[in-house]
Formats: sequence, C-alpha cells, structure tokens
Amino acid sequence: MGTRKKVHAYVRVKPTDEFAYEMITFGEDNKSIDIHIKKDGRRGTVNNQQTDWSFKLDGVLHDASQDCVYDTVAKEVVAQALDGYNGTIMCYGQTGAGKTYTMTGTTENYKHRGILPRALQQVFRMIEERPTHSITVRVSYLEIYNETLFDLLSTLPYVGNSDTPMSIVESPQGIFVKGLSVHMTGREEDAFSLLFEGETNRIIASHTMNKNSSRSHCIFTIYIEAHSRSLSDEKYVTSKINLVDLAGSERVGKTGSEGQILKEATYINKSLSFLEQAIIALGDRKREHVPFRQCKLTHALKDSLGGNCNMVIVANVYGEATQLDETLSSLRFASRMKLITTEPSINEKYDAERMVKNLEKELILLKQELAIHDSLANRAMVTYDPMDEVQIAEINSQVRRYLDGSLEEIDIINLRQIQEVFNQFKVILSLQEQEVEANLRRKYTLINKNDYATITAVQKAGLVDVEGNTVGETDGQGFGLGIAPFSAKPGKKGKIKKSYKDIPGALGKKDGLLSPVSGKDGESISTSRTQLLSSSKEADVKDVLSRDREASGSEPLASDSPKEDSRITRPATPPPKPSAFEEFKNERGSEINRIFKQNKTILNDRRKKASETAQRINSIKKEIDTTKEALDVQKNFREEQGEYENKGLMIIDEEEFLLILKLKELKKQYRGEYQDLHDLKAEIQYCQHLVDQCRQRLLTEFDIWYNESFLIPEEMQASLKAKGSIRLGLFPLTKLTSLAEDDEEKFGQIQASVLPDCPDSVSFYNARMKFDQKTPCPYR
Ligand code: ADP
Ligand code: MG
Repeated sequence: MGTRKKVHAYVRVKPTDEFAYEMITFGEDNKSIDIHIKKDGRRGTVNNQQTDWSFKLDGVLHDASQDCVYDTVAKEVVAQALDGYNGTIMCYGQTGAGKTYTMTGTTENYKHRGILPRALQQVFRMIEERPTHSITVRVSYLEIYNETLFDLLSTLPYVGNSDTPMSIVESPQGIFVKGLSVHMTGREEDAFSLLFEGETNRIIASHTMNKNSSRSHCIFTIYIEAHSRSLSDEKYVTSKINLVDLAGSERVGKTGSEGQILKEATYINKSLSFLEQAIIALGDRKREHVPFRQCKLTHALKDSLGGNCNMVIVANVYGEATQLDETLSSLRFASRMKLITTEPSINEKYDAERMVKNLEKELILLKQELAIHDSLANRAMVTYDPMDEVQIAEINSQVRRYLDGSLEEIDIINLRQIQEVFNQFKVILSLQEQEVEANLRRKYTLINKNDYATITAVQKAGLVDVEGNTVGETDGQGFGLGIAPFSAKPGKKGKIKKSYKDIPGALGKKDGLLSPVSGKDGESISTSRTQLLSSSKEADVKDVLSRDREASGSEPLASDSPKEDSRITRPATPPPKPSAFEEFKNERGSEINRIFKQNKTILNDRRKKASETAQRINSIKKEIDTTKEALDVQKNFREEQGEYENKGLMIIDEEEFLLILKLKELKKQYRGEYQDLHDLKAEIQYCQHLVDQCRQRLLTEFDIWYNESFLIPEEMQASLKAKGSIRLGLFPLTKLTSLAEDDEEKFGQIQASVLPDCPDSVSFYNARMKFDQKTPCPYR
C-alpha cells in the first residue's frame, strides 16, 4: 500500500466579463475562495441568512489557460499511472460552467484542447521516454444517460454489434463494463481519432436521441499495461486513468422542469448524490460498506473512486452573481471531496508465462552449477533428475534389505534420494501394518474395545474371559495333559465346556482304567456308570490306604521302610504296606497312578472354573440389584414429573432407556453364567466319579499285586493259574487254600463272600477277567 493521500480538489472559474468581484474573492495563496452575499433587505430586520463562506481547496484556477489547468490538475496523475497507479479526474458543476471545456476542450483549436487529449499526449510521450518497458495503451469511452450505458466508440467499423445491453461486472481482476469496446492505440494519432469519434458520437446522439449532452456522464478511460523489456522481470503493472465529465449538477425544480427534463434531472441529481455518498463512505474509515452499486456511475467507477487511486476533482463554476447558488453548491461538493483520504497503490501483477520460462532457465543454470560443484568435490556423476520407477524400486529393495539386516547401511547420494528412502520406509511400514492386521483378522475376530454389546456377547460365548483374554490360552495347560478331544480345537466353547455326557469316559484298552483322557489311546469303550465303583467322599489315596490298613489290622504306616525288589527275590517277611504302595505307584502301578493324577487335575480345574463362574454370577447379581434400584429412582422421578404418552407408548428419557437396556443385558449374562455353572457342576460330578473309581482301582490293583508278590505261596499260584486265569491276588490267603481243589462253583461263592462290602465290583471283575483272558494284562 502506498502512503495516504487526500483527494485533490480544485475550482475553475469560467471567464466572464461580469465577474462578481464584490462577491467572489480569492486567497493570496490561490487555494482559497471566499463568497460574500449582501444581506437581503426584503427579509426584514431579523435575518439569519448566512452571508459569508470560505472554501479551502488545493487550487483556484481563475483565468487559467488549458495548459495551466492540465499541469495543475492532471499531469501528476497521468505520470503516476505509468508507474501502476490508477487515477481519476472528475469535473463537477452546473451546465455551461466549463466541464466539457476543461475535460475535452475545443476540438477545433489545438490550443484549447482539454485534459483528455493532453493526457493521451503525455502517456505517449512518457512511453517514448521509457524504452526499457513495453507499454500498451487502450481506450474506451462510456456514456451514462438516464442510468443507461452507451458505448461512444461502438460506431467504429471493427466493433461488432451487440444486442445485449452493456452491464457492469465485478471480477477478481477488477470492475469492467461488459459489452464496452476497448481499443488498442499504438500511436498518439490513433488515440486522438478515437477521442474525436467519441466526441462526434456524443453530439450526434444528443440530436438523434433527443438527449442533452450536458445531462449525461461521460467516462473516457485510458488503460495502461507496462511490461519490463527485461525478460528476467516477470512483474508488470497495470493502471487506468478515468477522465470523467459529469452531468450538470444544477438542482431540479429551479427552472420548473417537467417531462423528460425532469426525468433527466432526477437521474442526475440521484447519481451525483450517490457519488457523494460513496465518496463520503470511502472517507469514513469505520464504514465497511460503501454503496457503490446504487447507480451506474459509482458502480462503474468502483475501483477508481477513492481507495487505492489518485483522485482529483475540478469544480467548474460561473463567476457571475446570478449563478452564486450553484457556485456555492459546487464549492461545497468540492470541499467535502477534499476531506476524503485515499491510499494509492501500484497494481502489480505477475506474468505467469514469463515466470515459468525464467524458472526453467534458473533450473538449468543451477544444475550446471551443481555439476561443477560435484566434479570439484570429486563426486561421481550424480543425477538430480526426478527418480524413475526402476530407481524407486531399487531404493525400496535397499530399505527392505536394510530392515532385514542383510544391508548394513544405505549410502547417502543426494537430497532427492534421502527423501525417497524415507518415503520407501513409510511405504514398507504401512504394508507391514496391513499384513499384520490381515493376519490377525484371519485368526481372530477383531472387536472394537468400546463395543460393549459385542464384547459382552463374546464373553458370554466364552471366546474371551472377563479380562479379554482368549479362553483356552491361559487355561490351555489344564488340557495339556493330552486330552486330545478337549484341546483339539481350542477356543471353541463346545469343546471346552462340554457336559459330562460328552466326555469320553472309558476303560483304557491297556490299563483298563476309567479316564477322561482315555481318548489318547484312539479307542475307547463306553462304560455303564452303574457298573462302576463310586465314592463321593473326598480322600487322598494315602488316607484311603491307611483306613484300609486299620480295618484289616495291618501294620501301621512306616514310611522309612526299606524298598525291596519283590520281582527278584521274595522277602521272608512282607514289606510294610505303605512303602510297598509307594513302590507300586512308581513301578507296577505307575500308569494307573498317572491317570489317577490326571483325572484329579481335571477335576480341580473344573472346580476352580465353577468357583469363578459362581463369583461372576454373584457380581452380576449385585449389578442387577443396583441397576434395578437406579431404574426405580428414574421411574419414580418420571412419575413425579408427570408422564408423557405418545400413541399409547410411554415416553421415557434416554437415561432410563439405557438402564432398561443394561438390566436386560445383565439378566441375559446372568442366565448364561447360570447355565454355564449348571453344566460345570454336572461335569464336576462326573469327574469326581472317575477320580473315585481310579482311586479304588489303584487300591485294588495294589492289593492284588501285594498279595501275589508277598503273601500267596508261589506253588499255590502256579497250580491255581493252571486251572484258570483268575487273579489270585484278589483273595486273602486263608480263603485261597480251599481253591486248591479247583472247585469252580466254590470260586463264585468265595467271590461273593470276600467282596461283601462292594457287591458291584463282582460283575466288574468278572467282566474284567473275561477281557483279560482275551488280552494279556500288562500288569501280570
Ligand atoms: P459544461 O460542460 O459544464 O456544460 P461547457 O464546457 O460546455 O460547459 O462550456 C460551455 C461553453 O463555455 C462552451 O462554449 C465553452 O467553450 C465555454 N467555456 C467554458 N469554460 C471556458 C473557459 N475556461 N474558457 C473559455 N471558454 C470556456
Ligand atoms: Mg458539458
């Protein structure tokens, strides 16, 4: 922005022989004009009429030649236009006061030519003085009559006829009159021809259209565009000089105008008062809106009034006493204009084409500079061109090798390469992210952490525990004992929380033990549970053993008894049962013992789960209770506030609605957990059953082994075995003596009498004996 400037206002008094010297006086500095009116005697003694005015302007042009007027008023404005400043010179005043004379002058007499031809002359002269610049000049001549736009240069042969009326258009480049012809003038002479053409048209039009030329506003515009001849300079300046010959400012009614004259006068008065309003608004820095569009005159001059341009106003006045009223009015206008401040600034633009060409040139130069630099620095030929696909692919491969460790360093070549390396890092990173996510999605169903409903559903389904861990991950060890059917498909509820019916409880083919892990043998025999020994009592094998010992009057536990290898030599006295039992568990009965332990582990695991489930149920129950309470509070509050119903539906607020949803969800969870607990309890019962059976079997096998190994004489065993493959160890020694006679019938009776406390075991052992006859028992 340039420096702030005031609008320059001048007054030009039309020469006359009847100059009112007693009424109009000029200041010595030639910048002020004083008006004095004699008191009107007819108004009586009381007369408040003002009689003296003093106007301070930028200059008074009295008896001034056209030359002088131009130099004072226009010369500087035109000169600045060639540097890129817009300029506007306006002549204001009543009809006949000399506006046209000042602006255009007389076309017959060169000496009396006005501002217009002189401005054109100055422009061309200055162009000649600036050989460093290529300056183009164009002109247009617009007339505004009764708010209608006329092109005073439309009669030129090369101007096409346009049927659409002209209009004022605002564009980012500024304001322009659509449809107005603008003429390039390469020479002063051409410019004059255009001026004469316009003046002629103005006069002709006033006759043919019956318009009074002094009732229209005429705007002659000189457009200047100056480019430096130096191609390195891509800046250029544009400007326009508006030379405005305003319509007569005399007020309507004074002459009793009517018809067309009244209409003209109304338009003129309106547009001049709009001009004044716009200019006042421009001068008021607080005013954001300037009413330019109220009339064609101000709209067309929007970017040439005030604002960033140099502005000059000439008030043309009569010097006669009879015209004093209008003179005063014009002087008031001029002095108001003088208060307006403008900020002239250069209209600087950039020649895009020239800019690109210059940048290209500079690029070539810099590349050459860089090449010299590289050769001085002994650097191999480095290219600075943009990379092609092959080079980018090579960098991508380098980065990959760097990431996997097969490339230790990536050599730095130039800035472009560094940028591409970073770029490829980003590409690879984002690809890896995508891969990881895709893998996760293949394996898992990813759930949004905030998706409460889905998480609850998944927890319910047993896919994740409360902490969000996948079920089976941490618990997996519990199934790691080789329970194939359980762990075959981890993560599936059906496989983990099976009811006891689904657990393959069966006799192992080899060990004959009931075990939920028997599936690992690949073959299982379904077992009727009614056949099985059952004990619901919780007891460790040792406890059972000691109880047994007490009942049978055996030796007390002696854990420090030395171990003896019964298979090699039978000791004279049988070893104490507790130590023999320890030995049995480690050797002969190790497999039964292992299965027994596994079953216990599974049982414990189920108990733990059941206890956790019960805890969860309790906490859900608590939450249900608090939610119910909160809901009741809401309900009561609603009832107190008064209820709303819509089409039979109760309207409740969002909070209550959310509580209802929560309660519903909690109840659902409660039911689910309850069902799980129920299933677990059944499973626990079944596992308990198996553990008891295993325990019983372990003890039975031990007793058989103990009897056979230490108590029954070897000869008796040999003779009885020859008669049938019964398990002799099953029977106490005293009972076996009668069996020596091989009485098959007696055997059955004995069986029934020796096992009175476990009658169910008979059929079991019978079945077992038959099975053993077909399959050799590994423990014999
Ligand atoms: P306006 O355009 O204000 O209506 P004009 O410029 O047409 O008035 O002037 C009316 C007449 O007065 C014209 O014949 C013109 O030549 C003459 N005239 C105006 N001012 C001067 C002047 N300063 N010196 C000589 N003649 C003038
Ligand atoms: Mg005129």
